[in-house]
Amino acid sequence: ATPTALLVGTGRGAQLGILIKGPQVLESTRRVDTIVLDKTGTVTTGAMTLLRTVPAAGEREELILRYAGAVESASEHPIAGAVAKAAAERLGDLPAVQRFRNTDGLGVQGVVDGREVVVGRPRMLAEEGIAVPAELEQAHAAAEQQGATAVAVAWDGRARAVLVVGDVVKPGSAQAIARLRDLGLTPMLLTGDNARAARRIAEQVGIAPGDVFAEVLPVEKVEQVKRLQAAGKVVAMVGDGVNDAAALAQADLGLAMGTGADAAIEAADLTLVGGDPRALADAIRLSRRTLATIK
Ligand code: ADP
Ligand code: MG
Repeated sequence: ATPTALLVGTGRGAQLGILIKGPQVLESTRRVDTIVLDKTGTVTTGAMTLLRTVPAAGEREELILRYAGAVESASEHPIAGAVAKAAAERLGDLPAVQRFRNTDGLGVQGVVDGREVVVGRPRMLAEEGIAVPAELEQAHAAAEQQGATAVAVAWDGRARAVLVVGDVVKPGSAQAIARLRDLGLTPMLLTGDNARAARRIAEQVGIAPGDVFAEVLPVEKVEQVKRLQAAGKVVAMVGDGVNDAAALAQADLGLAMGTGADAAIEAADLTLVGGDPRALADAIRLSRRTLATIK
């Protein structure tokens, strides 16, 4: 059945800036008890900036920005945007990248000026057989300790630098999470980013340290949702990235940020048009109220 109350619900949703895929969607939100939030672009603005470049001994910052900037220009990741922008500001036009490859949740690589360049998590370098020297390991750890995100840069099989990028929590995130708690939901943070940066963000928005899942690869995001469901939870998932799409589809209720990737919006049941996380509680409350009217 498509009772009038449900249609009213979808109409009211549009007024609140919430796009609902169909009236049937509202049904599933009633029992949701757990809400899993992606970090970058969902809880944070996703507008990262390059905070600093830490070159390995003997490496030149200009060359690091030239190679890393060229490869990142081909990627749509928020980290890539920060690196490419800083490189272009400093150097102007960047060289073209050939044979660009993206490994979801790990990083990117490609050929620039005939050199094989890798930018990403140390784990990505390790998978390429590239060792990260102690000085860069330390710079990486120090950045994460501050709650920033660090990525390593390598070319020709050698680690050359660590780039430190930072992101900020959206102004409405802490309030959004408090409202979700008021509605009886348990908020959790899910991210591919490092554990320290994730915990730091969680602390700022009021998510318990035990409810933070960090260093989760995109394929593992779905697994995490499945694990919660297997434990009896009814899960809402909120995300903005291509890497969140599968988890959004798996969740009992998928919510996408309207500011996010098309793939996320397509996979979700609901879209928060403006990308304001405070609309999450509105969406849950609206659907509960709509259902109460029908009963
Ligand atoms: P999130 O879940 O927070 O949106 P992702 O899964 O997209 O994070 O990325 C996880 C990690 O993978 C990043 O923190 C970064 O270390 C690495 N990474 C992913 N894409 C890139 C890229 N284009 N350049 C550098 N590092 C990347
Ligand atoms: Mg994201």
